[in-house]
Amino acid sequence: MKKSLMVVLAAVLVFAIVAAAQQPAKKLKVFISVDMEGVSGLVNWDETDIKGPDYPLFRKLMTEEANAAISGALAAGATEIVVRDAHDSARNILPDLLRPEAQLIREWSGPLSMMEGIDKSFDAVVFIGYHARAGTPNAVLKHTMSLSVFDLILNGVRQPEAGWNAAIAGYFDVPVVFVSGDAAICSQVREIIGNVETVAVKEGIGKAAKMIHPSKSQELIQKGVAAALRNLKAYKPYKPTPPYKLEIVFTEENLAQAASWVPGAIRTGERSVAFTSSDFMDIIKYFHVVRL
Ligand code: ZN
Repeated sequence: MKKSLMVVLAAVLVFAIVAAAQQPAKKLKVFISVDMEGVSGLVNWDETDIKGPDYPLFRKLMTEEANAAISGALAAGATEIVVRDAHDSARNILPDLLRPEAQLIREWSGPLSMMEGIDKSFDAVVFIGYHARAGTPNAVLKHTMSLSVFDLILNGVRQPEAGWNAAIAGYFDVPVVFVSGDAAICSQVREIIGNVETVAVKEGIGKAAKMIHPSKSQELIQKGVAAALRNLKAYKPYKPTPPYKLEIVFTEENLAQAASWVPGAIRTGERSVAFTSSDFMDIIKYFHVVRL
């Protein structure tokens, strides 16, 4: 081999090595929506309420479960993590105790609600502390978005908050890969969105619940989130097919009356309305303005 050719080949090799080293690391952007009712140990509304004497303990446990999810995401190579506080005031997670690798979204803003901050740039969604839909037997603090909604039915499927929020993530083509909460929401979410990693931290027995220790829950959440994110291709975005039909059954007749005044909505019963659109964002906005 000619010496000049060897020099050229060596230069090409050095260039290739430098170029490979400068390649950006593979992006893994994770959105974590954290509710409170499905946090380990928690069983009563009083414990979720800022005025409740045990609220300080349970907001700390909520923060620790969010941290467990962040740890799992980092172990799987997450490059960016956004945590959305998604319970009641949206000001429950203790910012100073949250792992510094994540950014935190607090307070309510727009129709994306518990999913505020999600967009197409994310690769995966994680739900922590979630609970079953209103009316579910043997489920801890079951309800659907507010206590004024008895049923939220999207394209014929009765939705818990996890299903509704999965559809919002699906609108942005992002899959839900992991859900933790009570056993009831774990089985409900699998029925609706299909393959998803779940961790049940407690199991309802009527209004009571049998639960595992919070430290055990956090260990399982960390491992489960990491396992799900390492197997990202196994999960598909939840995308109901258009046209989208949203039916809402309220607990009070007057709420259905008010919800029927929005153009395009129809009254379907004493406590129910329906709203149809080919644009899922219209559906998201409609629900946001009519629910209380
Ligand atoms: Zn909540």
